[in-house]
Amino acid sequence: MKSQLAIVIPAFNEASNIKPLCTRISEVMQRVQYNYIILFVNDGSTDHTLHELKTLREKDNRIHYLSLSRNFGHQSALKAGLDSVEADIYISLDADLQHPPELIPQLLQGWEEGYDVVYTVREDPPNISRFKKKTSTFFYNIMNSLSDIELDQGSADFRLMSANVVAAFRKFKEKDLFIRGLVKWVGFKQKSITYTANERYSGHSKYTFERMARFALQGITSFSTKPLYVATYLGFTFSMLSVLYVPYAIYAFLFGKVISGWTSLIVTVAFFGGLQLMILGIIGIYLGKLFMQSKHRPLYIIQSSTLS
Ligand code: UDP
Ligand code: MG
Repeated sequence: MKSQLAIVIPAFNEASNIKPLCTRISEVMQRVQYNYIILFVNDGSTDHTLHELKTLREKDNRIHYLSLSRNFGHQSALKAGLDSVEADIYISLDADLQHPPELIPQLLQGWEEGYDVVYTVREDPPNISRFKKKTSTFFYNIMNSLSDIELDQGSADFRLMSANVVAAFRKFKEKDLFIRGLVKWVGFKQKSITYTANERYSGHSKYTFERMARFALQGITSFSTKPLYVATYLGFTFSMLSVLYVPYAIYAFLFGKVISGWTSLIVTVAFFGGLQLMILGIIGIYLGKLFMQSKHRPLYIIQSSTLS
């Protein structure tokens, strides 16, 4: 019996990308012997994405979609897709054709060799913005030094997962999903392949700098409490330093140098003020996570679906 493959694609305002993407996937799938379905997760798009999906589905019943009740974000949309469909193999990719479907046979080959996860590592195209490249390198370095898992630089949500991995993954109930970290965390036999990322086919990236920064912070704080230790160490170091500073202050007082101390006072106040705010911020992020998690809200809400 042929193995069943589900290709899961989150899409948020990707109306003009969906059709070319489906064409390319079906071309590729002719080259391999798998039954497959394509499951789009419409993540509360405000353009014609849903209409486009309906039209495509009329022509090809291997195309399915889930429509979420509003925009829940890329990671939740992907989770919704993986939770909703039963298959032997799952492949996730972006709707904007930055993840070339032509790599699917290679991913499947990894599965045939017995790997449970075949993930992809992006080699940047020469014309990618220096800014995105630098921020991404910076993020992976920080992530790897602050948390207990090793992420490959440039790993994205373009990967193959076996039914076992997805079953493990479904048990996760956590709010701030950072899927590429979780997939690394679940273990199993994993393998990477590299590819060159394409430009977005059309439209623009939904990850603004602010969203990227938030995503990075989420990634770090979801996988480790090390930043809390960093906060403690910093606090400790500076209180030791200020212990050294007190004798100097007394000396300055005794020898009448009080007025000239104004500068150092302001500098110290400003410095410690900043440090305290930073540490409070770190603690606040974790507290916020606990707060959100304690509500046990669903990660996403499905409004309609073509899956029976
Ligand atoms: N996406 C989504 N919900 C969102 C933002 C993005 O489902 O709130 C989808 C988007 O349609 C695309 C993928 O996630 O298929 C990656 O998004 P994007 O291309 O904007 O990110 P980038 O490639 O710039 O990191
Ligand atoms: Mg993209």
